[in-house]
Amino acid sequence: MKFSLTALLTLALAVTAIPTQDRANKTHDGTKVIRVAIPDSAESAARLQTLVGKLDLPLWSRNFLPNGVVDVQVPKEKIEAFEAASIEWKKDVMFEDLGKSIREEADGIADEGMITISADVGTAAAPDVTWFNSYHSYADHLTWLNQMVAAYPNNAKIVTAGSSSQGRAITGIHIYGSNPGTKPGVIIHGTVHAREWITTMTTEYMAWNLLTTKGSDSIVASLLTKYDFYLFPVVNPDGFVYTQTNDRMWRKNRQSVSSSCYGVDINRNWANKWSGSGSSTSPCSETYRGPSQGSTPEVQGLAAFQNALSPKPKFYMDFHAYGQMWMFPYGYTCSANAPDHTELQSLSNGAVAALKAVSGTTYTAGPICKTIYAVNGDSVDYSYEVTGIKYSFTAELRPGSGSSTGFLLPAAQILPVGKETWAAMRYLWNNMV
Ligand SMILES: [Zn+2]
Repeated sequence: MKFSLTALLTLALAVTAIPTQDRANKTHDGTKVIRVAIPDSAESAARLQTLVGKLDLPLWSRNFLPNGVVDVQVPKEKIEAFEAASIEWKKDVMFEDLGKSIREEADGIADEGMITISADVGTAAAPDVTWFNSYHSYADHLTWLNQMVAAYPNNAKIVTAGSSSQGRAITGIHIYGSNPGTKPGVIIHGTVHAREWITTMTTEYMAWNLLTTKGSDSIVASLLTKYDFYLFPVVNPDGFVYTQTNDRMWRKNRQSVSSSCYGVDINRNWANKWSGSGSSTSPCSETYRGPSQGSTPEVQGLAAFQNALSPKPKFYMDFHAYGQMWMFPYGYTCSANAPDHTELQSLSNGAVAALKAVSGTTYTAGPICKTIYAVNGDSVDYSYEVTGIKYSFTAELRPGSGSSTGFLLPAAQILPVGKETWAAMRYLWNNMV
């Protein structure tokens, strides 16, 4: 499906009253994305954070630490002020004109219609690997899930975990060996943050590989005798659709939360260690935690789904982008280790080694708070502490700090990311006890 962001934007503005904050910079024409390097100075890091707050600049990464880098989105009208106030830092321009780059990416989104090959399995042809050559529309993702189920009717079915705030079913695929729903669950969430498109494709690659390699990979065959797999490629469907119709850089869900702003950060809304410095109380913030814990329909549906599974699920993964990090609890505190810290660190080390062996991509591994930053109300801490899923992880996928593509990861990297991430996940599933 080809998107014309300009045409859709014009239409949306014509028929809908959109709050001012929402209307601004929708096309991102003239917007720059700038990587700012922080020297070995906590004061310098704090000054940068203050400047970004004062100019109200959206962030692509938010690791305000000595020797860290912060990726800042600077709209055209704020470039002069930002340049004047940021002389002390070394800067690299990631995007000279974000709007132009977004339009180029939209032109590369695949046409509608599934590419299929004839297959001997099941009753229908399975979508082939070319699905992973491009990004896709939300409607095509739903079609793809249904085609996978049609191709593997004895090993897969569609599942839902409640509905989004705009009423879209949160749709996933349940993959199993036999007697579906009788084994400990393995749960994967993708696209909780709407603009992190690589996570949709990576979650689907996990589903695709489980189904297409179960006959040739004895480890996969064995995993399907032990676990039920529940994969949800898009847990924030409203936000994801919005990134394809209105604003490619949207992150949160699409609830109306104030007179001027939309969206709760679903990954700050889970009902566990909800309040704290790792989330925001401001409705306009990109990390707004919501008016109360567990207030979003998305969290309610997803939490109810995993808490209702019996036996208790065994594994949880929440895919994000970007930064190349493999992480586990805790997010909410840096001053305590999770009870299973030693085992989770060891497994994460093994996972990133397996990942690196595929094509040399390097990840760092550690607890969320110490590896990236403090996070309150996140899905991983909830899954670990409330649902009781011992093997709870999150990963920030490609790119890493050596790349300037950020959220606009080229489609040519979808398959390489899928392959290396599969190696890491397969390692974890095969080594957890
Ligand atoms: Zn994210």
